[in-house]
Amino acid sequence: MRNQKSKINNQKIIKIAITGGKGGTGKSTIAILFANKLVKEIEKVASSATRRGGGVILCDCDVECPNDYLLLGQKLKKPQKKVYAEFPKLNKTKCKKCGLCAKTCRNNAIFQPPGKYPVFIKDLCSGCGACWIVCPHGAIEPEKEEVGQIFVNKIKDNFWLITGSAKPGLEETGPIVSQTKKFALNLAKKNKANYILFDTAPGIHCPVISAILDCDLAYAVTEPTPMGAHDLNLILDLCQKLKVKTKIILNQANLGDKTEIENITKKYKIKIDKEIPYSKKLVKAYSQGKLLNFFI
Ligand code: SF4
Ligand code: SF4
Repeated sequence: MRNQKSKINNQKIIKIAITGGKGGTGKSTIAILFANKLVKEIEKVASSATRRGGGVILCDCDVECPNDYLLLGQKLKKPQKKVYAEFPKLNKTKCKKCGLCAKTCRNNAIFQPPGKYPVFIKDLCSGCGACWIVCPHGAIEPEKEEVGQIFVNKIKDNFWLITGSAKPGLEETGPIVSQTKKFALNLAKKNKANYILFDTAPGIHCPVISAILDCDLAYAVTEPTPMGAHDLNLILDLCQKLKVKTKIILNQANLGDKTEIENITKKYKIKIDKEIPYSKKLVKAYSQGKLLNFFI
């Protein structure tokens, strides 16, 4: 979080992921506090006479359970955009029951008893399209279906919240994250925003990878507990594979034992960028959805 001021007047939009292998480490809280800090820095640097646009976009990429809007005391109203995906639909008049589609599907989303038509198991389907590409008889047609929505909340003149939200029960949410990121990037260009912060889901699965990909920097948020250390290892490993520069934020730093976390910082040669102590005031602001009044 240091030396951000010098970058504020730069035209390039800086993309930062706020992530962490483990849930419940305060990732969303830190994403909001960081966004708020950047907004204040932009306001300080740009005088009212010279300011033309500029600002920060916070993009909630935890699409299965987005909650940044709650922490900011906002409501999600009308979606700005609907997100669609394509799923296979069988045309029985063309199907020759050859079985190629079932053999091709890597998700095991096609069940085909011998001599019968293939059956598509939607809960397992990622919509990758391999089955309709491979079918030699054109018997599978892609069918468009709404899988998610994107919402925009203007928090201040120079601070926007973008929320991606997946339809409940959807197996594959990576494409919703990608489309939410694309939407946020377009909004950032239109409004000449300086920063986009992507608040990722916990874990190291597909939607998290989609959120971190192409970022200039990732902050891995962790806490001084055995689980925090275990999951920090996983997320640092992932960021290394994705070739995204990573810094560590240690939340609730004064609770627990830091030894394991410090061992990991040595292993990956990454220093702890910021330690945030446990604070009753912060917990209160969190529980009241008033994080905008709180600074780190
Ligand atoms: S590949 Fe096409 S023709 Fe063969 S079983 Fe599947 S849908 Fe039917
Ligand atoms: S779209 Fe992909 S995942 Fe879905 S059934 Fe076809 S091959 Fe399987």
